[in-house]
Amino acid sequence: MITVIKVGGAVVENEASLDRLIAQFAGLEGEKVLVHGGGRSATRVAASMGLESRMVCGRRITDDGMLDVVTMVYGGLVNKHIVAMLQAKGVNALGLTGADLNAIRSHRRPVKEMTLEDGTRSMVDFGWVGDVDEVNGEALLHLTETGMVPVMAPLTHDGMGHLLNTNADTIASQTACGIAAAGMTRDTRPEVTLTFCFEKPGVLARPDDDGSVIPLITQDSYEKLKADGIVSGGMIPKLDNAFDALRRGVSRVIITSADDIEGKGGTTIVL
Ligand code: ADP
Repeated sequence: MITVIKVGGAVVENEASLDRLIAQFAGLEGEKVLVHGGGRSATRVAASMGLESRMVCGRRITDDGMLDVVTMVYGGLVNKHIVAMLQAKGVNALGLTGADLNAIRSHRRPVKEMTLEDGTRSMVDFGWVGDVDEVNGEALLHLTETGMVPVMAPLTHDGMGHLLNTNADTIASQTACGIAAAGMTRDTRPEVTLTFCFEKPGVLARPDDDGSVIPLITQDSYEKLKADGIVSGGMIPKLDNAFDALRRGVSRVIITSADDIEGKGGTTIVL
C-alpha cells in the first residue's frame, strides 16, 4: 500500500500541530508521500517584502513578484523545514517541486471569465498558476520503492523553464493518480490511499460543530451538500479532487484531522 498524505496550510504553519503531524507521519507503515501547502507563510513573507496578496475565489493571483515569493516559501522554507524534521525522525525524506525529476508538468491557466464571490462576472488572469497536465508517476513510485519519502511542494513547471503555482490539493490528488497508474505496471499493483488532513476532524454537517463529522460522502450526497451550502470555500475543490482521484484508480480517499492521519475517523469519500 502507498499512502499520499496532504497536509493543509493551517497545520504546517503551527509548530505544535506540525510536530504532531511529523511524528505520526514518521510512524506510518509502508510507502508514503507527503504533500504540503503554505499559503499563510507566503502571505506573511510577501507582506514583509511589501507585496500584497490578492486572492480570487480562494486562489492566489501570482504575478512575477508573487511567483518569486511562493517559490522561496513553498519550495524552500516550508519544504526544507519539513524535510529536516522528517530526517530528524529517521525518515529518508526528499523535497521536490514539480520541476524536480519532471515530477509534475502543467500549463499556465488561460485568462478566462469567471463568476466572482460577489456574483459578478469578470475576466480573471491568475498569472503564474498551473493546471496539471502530466505526473511522472513512474519516477515517484521508483523513489518510494527504494525507501525514499517524497515531500512535494505546491509548485509545478511548464517544460519551458517556468515554475507555476499550483493548488496543493490538486498536487496531492494528481500525485496519487500518477502513482496508481504507474503501479498498474507492477505485478503487485499497490493500492493507493489519499488522505487530506486539515485542522478540522472531517467534513462537517455544521461548520462550528466538530462533533458533526459526515462519515461518508458519495457523488450524489456531495451534490446535495453543495446545493444546501453545507460544503463551501476550500472544501469544494478538495472534494472535486477527491472524486477525481477515485475515478482515476486511487482506492481510498479520506478527509480527516491532522491528528488522525491513519484515517480511523474523518470522512470517507466514495463514488
Ligand atoms: P487546507 O487547510 O487543506 O488548505 P482549505 O482551507 O482549502 O484547506 O479548505 C478547508 C476549509 O474548508 C476549512 O478550513 C473550512 O473553513 C472550509 N469548509 C467549508 N465547508 C466545510 C465543511 N462542511 N466541513 C469542514 N470544512 C469546511
